[in-house]
Amino acid sequence: MSKSLAGKTALITGSTSGIGLAYAKVLAGEGANVVINGFGDADAIEKERLGLEALSGAKALYSGHDLTKADEIEAMMAQAAEAFGGVDILINNAGTQHVSPVEDFPVDKWNLIIALNLTSAFHTTRLAVPYMKSKKWGRIIQTASAHSKAASPFKSAYVTAKHGLAGFTKTVALEVATFGITANCISPGYVWTPLVENQIPDTMKARGMTREQVMNDVLLAGQPTKEFVTVEQVAAMALFLCSDAAANITGANMSIDGGWTAQ
Ligand code: NAD
Repeated sequence: MSKSLAGKTALITGSTSGIGLAYAKVLAGEGANVVINGFGDADAIEKERLGLEALSGAKALYSGHDLTKADEIEAMMAQAAEAFGGVDILINNAGTQHVSPVEDFPVDKWNLIIALNLTSAFHTTRLAVPYMKSKKWGRIIQTASAHSKAASPFKSAYVTAKHGLAGFTKTVALEVATFGITANCISPGYVWTPLVENQIPDTMKARGMTREQVMNDVLLAGQPTKEFVTVEQVAAMALFLCSDAAANITGANMSIDGGWTAQ
Protein backbone atom coordinates (compact mmCIF):
# COMPACT_ATOMS: atom_id res chain seq x y z
CA MET A 1 0.00 0.00 0.00
CA SER A 2 1.43 3.40 -0.89
CA LYS A 3 2.22 5.74 1.96
CA SER A 4 -0.04 8.80 2.16
CA LEU A 5 2.76 11.40 2.43
CA ALA A 6 5.25 9.91 -0.04
CA GLY A 7 6.84 12.72 -2.06
CA LYS A 8 5.98 15.36 0.55
CA THR A 9 8.47 17.15 2.81
CA ALA A 10 7.74 17.99 6.43
CA LEU A 11 9.81 20.39 8.50
CA ILE A 12 9.24 20.15 12.22
CA THR A 13 10.87 22.68 14.51
CA GLY A 14 12.07 21.52 17.92
CA SER A 15 11.93 17.86 16.95
CA THR A 16 14.96 16.38 18.67
CA SER A 17 12.76 15.40 21.61
CA GLY A 18 9.23 15.29 22.99
CA ILE A 19 6.22 16.11 20.84
CA GLY A 20 8.32 17.24 17.86
CA LEU A 21 10.10 13.90 17.57
CA ALA A 22 6.75 12.10 17.73
CA TYR A 23 5.49 14.25 14.82
CA ALA A 24 8.62 13.40 12.82
CA LYS A 25 8.09 9.67 13.41
CA VAL A 26 4.45 9.63 12.40
CA LEU A 27 5.03 11.72 9.25
CA ALA A 28 8.09 9.67 8.27
CA GLY A 29 5.98 6.56 8.84
CA GLU A 30 3.72 7.83 6.05
CA GLY A 31 6.69 8.27 3.72
CA ALA A 32 7.46 12.00 4.06
CA ASN A 33 10.95 13.43 3.86
CA VAL A 34 11.52 15.11 7.19
CA VAL A 35 13.68 17.96 8.37
CA ILE A 36 14.23 17.74 12.10
CA ASN A 37 15.55 20.62 14.16
CA GLY A 38 16.60 21.31 17.71
CA PHE A 39 19.42 20.85 20.15
CA GLY A 40 20.87 17.82 21.88
CA ASP A 41 23.53 15.15 21.85
CA ALA A 42 24.92 14.76 18.30
CA ASP A 43 25.09 10.95 18.42
CA ALA A 44 21.57 10.62 19.76
CA ILE A 45 20.25 12.97 17.06
CA GLU A 46 22.05 11.05 14.30
CA LYS A 47 20.52 7.82 15.62
CA GLU A 48 17.05 9.36 15.46
CA ARG A 49 17.73 10.72 11.95
CA LEU A 50 18.73 7.26 10.68
CA GLY A 51 15.68 5.77 12.39
CA LEU A 52 13.45 8.24 10.56
CA GLU A 53 14.97 7.28 7.20
CA ALA A 54 14.37 3.62 8.00
CA LEU A 55 10.74 4.41 8.84
CA SER A 56 10.06 6.51 5.74
CA GLY A 57 12.23 4.96 3.06
CA ALA A 58 12.83 8.65 2.24
CA LYS A 59 15.27 11.30 3.48
CA ALA A 60 15.70 12.82 6.92
CA LEU A 61 17.82 15.95 7.38
CA TYR A 62 18.95 17.52 10.61
CA SER A 63 19.10 21.29 11.15
CA GLY A 64 20.73 22.49 14.35
CA HIS A 65 19.78 26.11 13.75
CA ASP A 66 18.82 28.31 16.68
CA LEU A 67 15.27 29.49 16.03
CA THR A 68 15.51 32.53 18.26
CA LYS A 69 17.46 34.16 15.40
CA ALA A 70 15.85 35.22 12.11
CA ASP A 71 19.03 34.63 10.07
CA GLU A 72 19.34 31.07 11.38
CA ILE A 73 15.69 30.37 10.53
CA GLU A 74 16.39 31.64 7.01
CA ALA A 75 19.39 29.28 6.80
CA MET A 76 17.26 26.32 7.95
CA MET A 77 14.55 27.04 5.39
CA ALA A 78 17.23 27.43 2.68
CA GLN A 79 18.70 24.05 3.69
CA ALA A 80 15.25 22.44 3.29
CA ALA A 81 14.63 24.17 -0.04
CA GLU A 82 18.00 23.10 -1.40
CA ALA A 83 17.42 19.46 -0.44
CA PHE A 84 13.73 19.11 -1.31
CA GLY A 85 12.60 22.18 -3.27
CA GLY A 86 10.52 23.43 -0.35
CA VAL A 87 8.39 22.45 2.60
CA ASP A 88 4.89 21.01 2.11
CA ILE A 89 4.14 20.46 5.80
CA LEU A 90 5.42 22.99 8.32
CA ILE A 91 5.06 22.21 12.00
CA ASN A 92 6.04 25.01 14.34
CA ASN A 93 6.70 23.18 17.54
CA ALA A 94 9.90 24.50 19.14
CA GLY A 95 9.14 26.03 22.48
CA THR A 96 10.38 26.65 25.95
CA GLN A 97 8.95 27.65 29.30
CA HIS A 98 9.87 29.73 32.31
CA VAL A 99 7.87 29.91 35.52
CA SER A 100 8.08 33.06 37.63
CA PRO A 101 5.87 35.77 39.15
CA VAL A 102 5.56 38.64 36.67
CA GLU A 103 7.39 41.14 38.87
CA ASP A 104 10.44 38.84 38.97
CA PHE A 105 10.18 37.54 35.41
CA PRO A 106 13.69 37.79 33.91
CA VAL A 107 13.66 40.06 30.85
CA ASP A 108 15.97 37.71 28.93
CA LYS A 109 13.55 34.81 29.56
CA TRP A 110 10.62 36.90 28.33
CA ASN A 111 12.52 37.77 25.14
CA LEU A 112 13.59 34.16 24.61
CA ILE A 113 10.06 32.76 24.96
CA ILE A 114 8.51 35.35 22.65
CA ALA A 115 11.27 34.78 20.06
CA LEU A 116 11.12 30.98 20.13
CA ASN A 117 7.46 30.22 20.86
CA LEU A 118 5.96 32.98 18.71
CA THR A 119 8.25 34.93 16.38
CA SER A 120 9.97 31.84 14.95
CA ALA A 121 6.59 30.68 13.60
CA PHE A 122 6.19 33.99 11.76
CA HIS A 123 9.58 33.56 10.08
CA THR A 124 9.13 29.90 9.09
CA THR A 125 5.63 30.60 7.80
CA ARG A 126 6.57 33.64 5.72
CA LEU A 127 9.38 31.60 4.16
CA ALA A 128 7.31 28.43 3.59
CA VAL A 129 4.13 29.91 2.11
CA PRO A 130 5.39 30.88 -1.39
CA TYR A 131 6.34 27.25 -2.19
CA MET A 132 3.06 25.93 -0.75
CA LYS A 133 1.13 28.43 -2.87
CA SER A 134 3.03 27.32 -5.98
CA LYS A 135 2.06 23.69 -5.19
CA LYS A 136 -1.54 24.63 -4.34
CA TRP A 137 -1.17 22.42 -1.26
CA GLY A 138 0.25 22.91 2.18
CA ARG A 139 -0.24 22.21 5.86
CA ILE A 140 0.83 24.61 8.59
CA ILE A 141 0.43 23.20 12.08
CA GLN A 142 1.38 24.88 15.32
CA THR A 143 1.88 23.18 18.61
CA ALA A 144 0.05 25.84 20.60
CA SER A 145 -1.21 24.80 24.02
CA ALA A 146 -4.19 24.87 26.35
CA HIS A 147 -2.35 28.06 27.31
CA SER A 148 -3.37 29.52 23.94
CA LYS A 149 -6.92 29.50 25.30
CA ALA A 150 -6.56 29.90 29.07
CA ALA A 151 -3.98 31.31 31.45
CA SER A 152 -2.17 30.00 34.49
CA PRO A 153 -0.31 32.18 36.97
CA PHE A 154 3.49 32.56 36.70
CA LYS A 155 3.60 31.78 32.96
CA SER A 156 3.12 35.27 31.55
CA ALA A 157 5.52 34.98 28.62
CA TYR A 158 4.37 31.50 27.60
CA VAL A 159 0.65 32.34 27.78
CA THR A 160 1.28 35.55 25.82
CA ALA A 161 3.25 33.73 23.13
CA LYS A 162 0.71 30.92 22.77
CA HIS A 163 -2.27 33.30 22.58
CA GLY A 164 -0.32 35.22 19.93
CA LEU A 165 0.38 32.04 18.01
CA ALA A 166 -3.34 31.23 17.95
CA GLY A 167 -4.15 34.66 16.52
CA PHE A 168 -1.34 34.45 13.99
CA THR A 169 -2.60 31.05 12.81
CA LYS A 170 -6.14 32.30 12.22
CA THR A 171 -4.79 35.23 10.21
CA VAL A 172 -2.59 33.01 8.03
CA ALA A 173 -5.46 30.55 7.53
CA LEU A 174 -7.57 33.33 6.04
CA GLU A 175 -4.76 34.54 3.77
CA VAL A 176 -4.00 31.13 2.25
CA ALA A 177 -7.49 29.61 2.26
CA THR A 178 -7.90 29.51 -1.52
CA PHE A 179 -4.51 27.88 -2.16
CA GLY A 180 -5.18 24.40 -0.74
CA ILE A 181 -3.22 25.36 2.36
CA THR A 182 -4.58 24.94 5.87
CA ALA A 183 -3.24 26.46 9.07
CA ASN A 184 -4.28 25.12 12.44
CA CYS A 185 -3.23 24.94 16.07
CA ILE A 186 -3.03 21.78 18.10
CA SER A 187 -3.47 22.68 21.75
CA PRO A 188 -2.38 20.01 24.17
CA GLY A 189 -2.86 20.05 27.90
CA TYR A 190 -0.01 18.54 29.88
CA VAL A 191 2.01 16.06 27.86
CA TRP A 192 4.76 14.17 29.64
CA THR A 193 7.95 15.50 27.96
CA PRO A 194 11.24 17.09 29.11
CA LEU A 195 9.58 20.53 28.89
CA VAL A 196 7.12 19.56 31.63
CA GLU A 197 9.66 17.70 33.70
CA ASN A 198 12.03 20.69 33.63
CA GLN A 199 9.48 23.16 34.98
CA ILE A 200 8.82 21.13 38.11
CA PRO A 201 11.74 22.56 40.16
CA ASP A 202 10.80 26.21 39.39
CA THR A 203 7.14 25.53 40.12
CA MET A 204 8.15 23.92 43.43
CA LYS A 205 10.02 27.13 44.21
CA ALA A 206 7.35 29.56 42.99
CA ARG A 207 4.55 27.79 44.87
CA GLY A 208 6.47 26.35 47.82
CA MET A 209 5.41 22.79 46.97
CA THR A 210 6.91 19.31 46.88
CA ARG A 211 7.42 17.47 43.57
CA GLU A 212 4.35 15.28 44.20
CA GLN A 213 2.22 18.32 45.02
CA VAL A 214 3.29 19.99 41.76
CA MET A 215 2.46 16.85 39.74
CA ASN A 216 -0.97 16.28 41.30
CA ASP A 217 -2.12 19.69 42.54
CA VAL A 218 -0.75 21.88 39.72
CA LEU A 219 -0.07 19.90 36.55
CA LEU A 220 -2.92 17.41 36.64
CA ALA A 221 -5.23 19.51 38.83
CA GLY A 222 -6.89 21.14 35.85
CA GLN A 223 -6.82 18.09 33.59
CA PRO A 224 -10.12 16.25 34.29
CA THR A 225 -8.87 12.88 32.97
CA LYS A 226 -6.03 13.02 35.56
CA GLU A 227 -3.73 11.64 32.89
CA PHE A 228 -0.91 13.19 30.92
CA VAL A 229 -1.60 13.37 27.17
CA THR A 230 0.87 11.19 25.22
CA VAL A 231 3.13 12.46 22.45
CA GLU A 232 1.68 9.76 20.17
CA GLN A 233 -1.84 11.14 20.67
CA VAL A 234 -0.67 14.65 19.70
CA ALA A 235 1.19 13.31 16.66
CA ALA A 236 -1.88 11.38 15.50
CA MET A 237 -3.84 14.64 15.39
CA ALA A 238 -1.15 16.23 13.23
CA LEU A 239 -1.24 13.30 10.83
CA PHE A 240 -5.00 13.68 10.55
CA LEU A 241 -4.60 17.41 9.80
CA CYS A 242 -2.27 16.43 6.94
CA SER A 243 -4.89 14.15 5.37
CA ASP A 244 -7.36 15.03 2.61
CA ALA A 245 -10.16 14.44 5.13
CA ALA A 246 -8.94 17.55 6.98
CA ALA A 247 -8.77 19.81 3.89
CA ASN A 248 -11.61 21.98 5.23
CA ILE A 249 -10.28 22.28 8.75
CA THR A 250 -8.46 25.60 8.80
CA GLY A 251 -8.06 28.39 11.30
CA ALA A 252 -9.02 25.91 14.00
CA ASN A 253 -7.51 25.47 17.43
CA MET A 254 -7.85 21.80 18.25
CA SER A 255 -7.75 20.89 21.93
CA ILE A 256 -6.22 17.65 23.11
CA ASP A 257 -6.20 18.38 26.80
CA GLY A 258 -8.14 15.78 28.74
CA GLY A 259 -11.01 18.25 29.13
CA TRP A 260 -8.95 21.10 30.62
CA THR A 261 -10.43 23.92 28.52
CA ALA A 262 -13.97 22.52 28.76
CA GLN A 263 -14.09 23.87 32.30
P1 NAD B 1 10.80 19.49 24.61
O1 NAD B 1 11.59 20.31 25.56
O2 NAD B 1 10.82 18.00 24.70
O3 NAD B 1 11.16 19.89 23.12
C1 NAD B 1 11.50 21.19 22.75
C2 NAD B 1 12.29 21.13 21.47
O4 NAD B 1 12.65 22.47 21.09
C3 NAD B 1 13.60 20.35 21.58
O5 NAD B 1 13.82 19.63 20.39
C4 NAD B 1 14.64 21.45 21.74
O6 NAD B 1 15.95 21.08 21.34
C5 NAD B 1 14.05 22.49 20.81
N1 NAD B 1 14.57 23.84 21.04
C6 NAD B 1 14.74 24.49 22.22
N2 NAD B 1 15.29 25.70 22.00
C7 NAD B 1 15.46 25.81 20.66
C8 NAD B 1 16.00 26.82 19.81
N3 NAD B 1 16.44 28.00 20.30
N4 NAD B 1 16.04 26.59 18.48
C9 NAD B 1 15.60 25.42 17.97
N5 NAD B 1 15.08 24.43 18.72
C10 NAD B 1 15.02 24.62 20.05
O7 NAD B 1 9.31 20.04 24.77
P2 NAD B 1 7.87 19.53 24.30
O8 NAD B 1 7.05 19.37 25.52
O9 NAD B 1 7.94 18.43 23.32
O10 NAD B 1 7.36 20.87 23.60
C11 NAD B 1 7.14 21.03 22.24
C12 NAD B 1 6.07 22.08 22.05
O11 NAD B 1 4.86 21.63 22.65
C13 NAD B 1 6.39 23.44 22.67
O12 NAD B 1 6.02 24.48 21.79
C14 NAD B 1 5.52 23.47 23.90
O13 NAD B 1 5.18 24.77 24.28
C15 NAD B 1 4.32 22.69 23.40
N6 NAD B 1 3.46 22.14 24.45
C16 NAD B 1 3.96 21.23 25.33
C17 NAD B 1 3.12 20.73 26.32
C18 NAD B 1 3.60 19.73 27.31
O14 NAD B 1 2.86 19.49 28.28
N7 NAD B 1 4.73 19.11 27.13
C19 NAD B 1 1.78 21.16 26.39
C20 NAD B 1 1.32 22.08 25.47
C21 NAD B 1 2.16 22.58 24.51
